[in-house]
Amino acid sequence: MPDGTRVLVTGAGGFIGHHLVTYLKESGYWVRGVDIKYPEFSPKDADEFELLDLRRWDNCLQATRGMDEVYALAADMGGMGFISSNHAQILHNNLLMNIHSFEAAHVNGVKRFLFTSSACIYPEYRQMEADVIPLKEEDAYPADPQDAYGWEKLVIERLGMHYDKEYGLETRIPRFHNIFGPAGTWTGGREKVPAALCRKIAVAKFTGNPEIDIWGDGDQTRSFCYIDDCVTGIFKLMQSDYNEPLNLGQDRMLSINELADIIAEIAEVKIKKVHIEGPEGVRGRNSDNTRLKEVLGWSPEISLEDGLARTYTWIEKQVKAELENAADNQAATEALVHSKVL
Ligand code: NAD
Repeated sequence: MPDGTRVLVTGAGGFIGHHLVTYLKESGYWVRGVDIKYPEFSPKDADEFELLDLRRWDNCLQATRGMDEVYALAADMGGMGFISSNHAQILHNNLLMNIHSFEAAHVNGVKRFLFTSSACIYPEYRQMEADVIPLKEEDAYPADPQDAYGWEKLVIERLGMHYDKEYGLETRIPRFHNIFGPAGTWTGGREKVPAALCRKIAVAKFTGNPEIDIWGDGDQTRSFCYIDDCVTGIFKLMQSDYNEPLNLGQDRMLSINELADIIAEIAEVKIKKVHIEGPEGVRGRNSDNTRLKEVLGWSPEISLEDGLARTYTWIEKQVKAELENAADNQAATEALVHSKVL
């Protein structure tokens, strides 16, 4: 039971953050949300929501004051297109945010701090084949993440473990593997592959043009975890006494081509995949969930098909509204196909 526990969720205006706030409110917590923006697609459920730039030390002190627990989800991030071409911005902004957030939590006497890491910390040399061996937590070293985004996460994982051991700030560190679901970024350049494919397939459905662009040959592989499982896993990890990094994702690996086919089937539309040049990330990635099951006695339960059906339905609605409300339908279609903001 929460028993008067006051929690801070940073990044509460973002995809996972706003779903987590709703979950924590429903579980009886008093919740403060902090972000540089309000949630785009749903009301803010937090008891208190403060617009603060967490790169600033004074704002981190303000955000963490009076809090028992912190769920740190704020990050300057996006899909492969964004993280493979904005290294300096990502490293600079995320380091500032996380270094200040940890120290402010320590200064303000926060008891427990959950830092959201990523599968992007894993070394590139273990992810060179599409049919990759699932990644265990200890595979993180010797370190060689592909992008600055992963290096920053790895450094902050270590910072968190040192704050835990030396300052007694109890640290929890999930490494997410491709989280997807409704009410997340679906266009504009920061969206990730499940949302991008749902958008492109919805556009194909409404325009009758079956062509779907896919970056690379589409044989690159990943696993995908539905948002409700992610939030449940975050909460279970926060309640546990496990203070080392832990994979949080599904372990069903499939190719991007297969992902597109599943979405097309859900949408009941025939697609023609057009493979174009684009950032593909590592060749293959999957989560080894052995430790997750040992530590939490649980692993993600929602099937990919169920999660995608819910996600596609939501994105199809956004696409439909965008096309209906556009003054220039042709320009709106173009923008949606190429993920440009109108
Ligand atoms: P998101 O981009 O939807 O949410 C991040 C939020 O952080 C945004 O609302 C953004 O406005 C906010 N933010 C950015 N800069 C800020 C600043 N200076 N001050 C305050 N807030 C700021 O991303 P998400 O998918 O909800 O991811 C949440 C966390 O999970 C992040 O740490 C991310 O790196 C991690 N993660 C996500 C995934 C995934 O598949 N979504 C995978 C691995 C790790």
